[in-house]
Amino acid sequence: MRAAIEAAKGGYNVAVVTKVYPVRSHSVAAQGGINAALKETDSPEAHMFDTVKGSDYLGDQDAIEIMCKEAPADILELEKMGAIFSRDKSGGIAQRPFGGADYPRTCYLADRTGHGILHVMYEQLLKYGVYLYDEWHVVKLVVKDNTARGIIAVEYEAGKLHRLHSKATIIATGGYGRLYKTTTNALSSTGDGMALALDAGAELMDMEFVQFHPTVLKRTGILMTEGARGEGAYLLNAKGERFMSKYAPKVLELASRDVVSRAEQTELEEGRGIDGCVLLDLRHLGEKKINERLSQIRELAVNFAGVDPVKDPVPVKPGAHYSMGGIKTDNDGATRIKGLFAAGECACVSVHGANRLGGNSLLETIVFGRRAGKKAMDFSKGSPLSDFPVDSLMDAAHEVANIVKRENGEAQYIIRDELNAVMEENCGVFRNKERLARCLDKIRELKQRHNGVSLSDKGELFNNELLSVLELGQMLTVSETIVLGALNREESRGSHYRTDFPARNDKDWLKHTVIYREGGELKIRYRDVKITKFKPEERKY
Ligand SMILES: Cc1cc2nc3c(=O)[nH]c(=O)nc-3n(C[C@H](O)[C@H](O)[C@H](O)COP(=O)(O)OP(=O)(O)OC[C@H]3O[C@@H](n4cnc5c(N)ncnc54)[C@H](O)[C@@H]3O)c2cc1C
Repeated sequence: MRAAIEAAKGGYNVAVVTKVYPVRSHSVAAQGGINAALKETDSPEAHMFDTVKGSDYLGDQDAIEIMCKEAPADILELEKMGAIFSRDKSGGIAQRPFGGADYPRTCYLADRTGHGILHVMYEQLLKYGVYLYDEWHVVKLVVKDNTARGIIAVEYEAGKLHRLHSKATIIATGGYGRLYKTTTNALSSTGDGMALALDAGAELMDMEFVQFHPTVLKRTGILMTEGARGEGAYLLNAKGERFMSKYAPKVLELASRDVVSRAEQTELEEGRGIDGCVLLDLRHLGEKKINERLSQIRELAVNFAGVDPVKDPVPVKPGAHYSMGGIKTDNDGATRIKGLFAAGECACVSVHGANRLGGNSLLETIVFGRRAGKKAMDFSKGSPLSDFPVDSLMDAAHEVANIVKRENGEAQYIIRDELNAVMEENCGVFRNKERLARCLDKIRELKQRHNGVSLSDKGELFNNELLSVLELGQMLTVSETIVLGALNREESRGSHYRTDFPARNDKDWLKHTVIYREGGELKIRYRDVKITKFKPEERKY
């Protein structure tokens, strides 16, 4: 939406296509906040250092510098658009401490930051007259002669296939948390855009880096924001110990997410958990502060875990949360396909490297969304509208018809459940060669089975089952790239922890994994990390 606003402001004819509704995108669930060095005692340089360190030195420092420098102006712009940030005592924008940051630089709207920002973006779309295609599910990016021509989408309500012909296309389809059983992500976060881009000829980068958030509810995966620990909540094991003192003696619960998730998983695997969870204790914060700063967390814990954090500690565990990897872009969102851009969680610029800091993702969507919108507009200015290949709509229609007419196949949800289970078990917080190889075999088996699924609903209108089959195909593609990247990377860095290669190895692995398709096969190449200001050093919290 930020990209669309930028291009629409420039007078361009812009449409936003979403398989849900703009204000129901996963961003609406973002709780804790958005980072920017606003205070004189903080600086973009300090923000940059924390981000580079957080990324375990895999983030590209030129991109990180852009993000941190441009952040303060973007926050002020959001405020001017109407985002009502929580205030500090002097009336300025309040900022809370977040994991891996040396300074309280996370701006927030209570614990509903994404909700607040997303609605403001939506108002701007209306203001600038952007066309909206809600509940349109994109099934194909159309590319010919390495130039993007537009998309093909299913209109959910009518069951019709449409083509949208454009000079420039920006993919902003978010993450893929739904590959895992326990995830904080919305049902719509199935990685579609990444798979579509890969199949259209773009490259994916650093897919092996999957962020596990340390504090999610057990059964539902619902997030308890890092803001809770930012406000002072503790993590306790079954013995009542604040176990983070063993793993991050200096900053305890406010270490980076990969560090805290591994600490929890170790406590669980060594038998100091309670029913598969550790405890998040907010009681000492008091009811007043909890209601003021973390009211949504309280509500969610009561409704979905049956625990009132004012009275009892909340059982939590690590869950799949964020995709560091994604469609490889330059600092303006451009991919290697002309006219095809990507921004937000589906893209890999890369600012998060091997591990993202909380509060940097909303920021990425705004900074690089704006930049991609501008670049797409500049690109459109100088290019004619290329033709839309006539066969592509027919080909897509045949693919869909083949699924619909198939009889007596397996149901898609069985394959989806098996994928969730195998990813959770073998490609999670701790990984090794044997587990990853098993996972890859299983994914390839599931891909075969996916080719034979059939539908129980053959109807045209609101065919959710058909869209689930299409999504599952994308999920399998994305899973394969994650596991392939993870199997090849024989070191531990950020969120990617190999028990058989437990050390970071800068000599051989200070490089990005780039995955692309050639002749139907997935291929890997590696790319140097851009290091400008900060030389890699050991990462300690
Ligand atoms: C619970 C939770 C809390 C978070 N809290 C924070 C936080 O406090 N701070 C922070 O910085 N980050 C946070 N994050 C991360 C951050 O919110 C996300 O990374 C970011 O909002 C993603 O935005 P996006 O625009 O890239 O994608 P999304 O908001 O996920 O939007 C993707 C859009 O693409 C559409 N789409 C996808 N596939 C298709 C398709 N095939 N056809 C048509 N449309 C499609 C979807 O319908 C949706 O509209 C949180 C994430 C979660 C899950």
